[in-house]
Amino acid sequence: MQDLKLSDIQKEIEDLKVKLNYWNKLYYEESSPEVSDEVYDAHYKRLVELEINYPDLKTPDSPSQKAGSLELETKSKKYNHSKPMLSLENVFGIEDLKIWLNRSDSLNDEIVAELKIDGLSVSIFYENGKFQKALTRGNGLIGEDISENVKTIKTLPLEIPFEGKLEVRGEIFMTYSSFEKLIGFANPRNAASGSVKLLDSKICAERNLSVFIYELISAERLFFHFDNLQKLIELGFPVNPNYKLLTGINQLQDFCENWDNKRKALDYPTDGIVFKLNSVHKQQELGQTSKYPRWAVAYKFVAERAETQITNILVEVGRTGAVTPVAEVLPVQLAGTTVCRASLHNSDYINNLDIRLSDFVLIHKAGEIIPEIIEVIKEKRKTDNQAFIFPTNCPSCGTELARKENEVAIRCPNTKACPAQIQRKIEYWASKNAMEIKGLGEAIIKQLLEQKLINAIPGLYKLEQKDLLVLEGFKEKSINNLLKAIENSKNTSLDRLINALGIRYIGATSAKLLSQNFDSLTEIANASLDELKNIHGIGEIMACEIYDFFQEAENRQFIKDLEEVGIKATNKKPALNKEEQTLLNKTFVITGTFDKPRAELEEIIISKGGKVLNSISRKTDYLLCGENAGSKLEKAQNLNIKILQLSDFIILTN
Ligand code: NAD
Repeated sequence: MQDLKLSDIQKEIEDLKVKLNYWNKLYYEESSPEVSDEVYDAHYKRLVELEINYPDLKTPDSPSQKAGSLELETKSKKYNHSKPMLSLENVFGIEDLKIWLNRSDSLNDEIVAELKIDGLSVSIFYENGKFQKALTRGNGLIGEDISENVKTIKTLPLEIPFEGKLEVRGEIFMTYSSFEKLIGFANPRNAASGSVKLLDSKICAERNLSVFIYELISAERLFFHFDNLQKLIELGFPVNPNYKLLTGINQLQDFCENWDNKRKALDYPTDGIVFKLNSVHKQQELGQTSKYPRWAVAYKFVAERAETQITNILVEVGRTGAVTPVAEVLPVQLAGTTVCRASLHNSDYINNLDIRLSDFVLIHKAGEIIPEIIEVIKEKRKTDNQAFIFPTNCPSCGTELARKENEVAIRCPNTKACPAQIQRKIEYWASKNAMEIKGLGEAIIKQLLEQKLINAIPGLYKLEQKDLLVLEGFKEKSINNLLKAIENSKNTSLDRLINALGIRYIGATSAKLLSQNFDSLTEIANASLDELKNIHGIGEIMACEIYDFFQEAENRQFIKDLEEVGIKATNKKPALNKEEQTLLNKTFVITGTFDKPRAELEEIIISKGGKVLNSISRKTDYLLCGENAGSKLEKAQNLNIKILQLSDFIILTN
């Protein structure tokens, strides 16, 4: 963040403030948000991050400093709140929750966990047991009178057994079953919020709103929040029953995990868990900021899918020349991270889902892979949203793109000279699972290519200190570190080198298999197709790709170039002495089922210098035979191959 110009930061902050204020207005005043909560949260998080790093740029009018909407434009009566109605600080994962516990010095304190109901907050007043009035949160200090509508909520008592003045606060919401009968709102929260602001309370009554009360505000407040919740129940208020007293991060984490799942069966919307310190005394000690109390926090459930909007579609050229379309989207919180890009896979995918520029879309994140667009929200599409036209030429080198029959991918055929492909190949070469050259990232590779210091992978190994002095921000220490990392990679293991070649379908696991069966790259390059096919775990398709790769003159030259620059990938088999290598060069085929995992048996053979192959031939030394063996057993018997049962194998290898 330090590298950014102050004027750019200022502009970004201003843009974020304008956007967030506009979205607040739509959300709080019109109950009709334009973007999803996840998009709002990602922008809000960015604003807070910038304000923390550049405190001088934080202004009192920032949305990060105020709860609720900024304007109170409606005509309804307004009242000052007895004490500010605040928002809650959000945390998006267990690590952040730990930080909050630590910061509030509550690692071992009692914490009350409550479900966070997704509706709108309300403050309700009683006098001598009778309902007086109800206010919205408004701008946090002044609320709007919504008494007539709140009185229509059937579960709220209008009379309570209490003398004197009493205020309670809670969340008005709409159940999913009531929401289903309604049209015109995107979700129950907007429906609840829109309904309480209706001028005609008869219509509001038909909407069937509900309320859960979660806070007691009166002179009679007890010393612990948990007891106050019990007292609210005794007074006849509807309190959500799923609250619990907890201590320590493990219990908090269990509660989050448990409810992340269980909440799906509830008939009302929840968007997180609220954790509150149980001791009212400690709550008072910790106090509050202008926006939220320091004694409570909202843990937001991790969204697996989220709605956002496409801002641009571009295509990227990969190391094999495949041209992949990628959507840039409005930043959105998803599965604990801020997402700005989503994969569109290929042109068929775009056509099948009918994805257009500026469309609102649902994105989803699976495992480690980059998020993908899974659905277009057609109801939100504007008529002038343009279809995306796939480029006919490579955005990097201008070569006409081609699509092979039966392949979905569109490729740039200029595999030798396309700058984007060269860049990606080098990035892959230097990556963690390949040659692992620390410090050689995307930006540096780009500079090396642009400055013509290298034009392909072998060039990396010819770089000298003086060449690197021209690189932006590079000093003696960083230059030496990079040169050292490049030099170290020369002595990598054979499996890493195989992986780094980027042969189609050959990743880290199959590279390992190859390295267990050959001692050098030259041996693999000279292997016959049958030899490759016969390696256990390498199927026909992979074998063909490997074979074809090494048949190409250009790739053979590449291997030579690598040797010339001093790459001596060694086969790092466990250094066993002669006596331990009892199965040196013995070939095994395994068939049938065992009460041990096959991988374990393979491991034993390889660790003792042996090889595991797929099929029986005259050259096979042993068939390791489990239960229910089939044709392989028959073939081994015909060829007089030695057959080992598991018990024989254990004796042989012990
Ligand atoms: P919030 O909804 O994140 O959290 C505070 C609120 O939680 C409280 O005011 C209270 O009403 C409610 N709550 C529910 N159960 C509770 C419980 N058991 N105990 C205490 N409080 C409970 O905060 P907010 O300030 O109302 O709204 C901010 C959030 O609203 C954002 O994070 C965003 O997700 C959403 N938002 C969305 C848009 C949009 O355009 N989509 C715009 C503005 C805000």
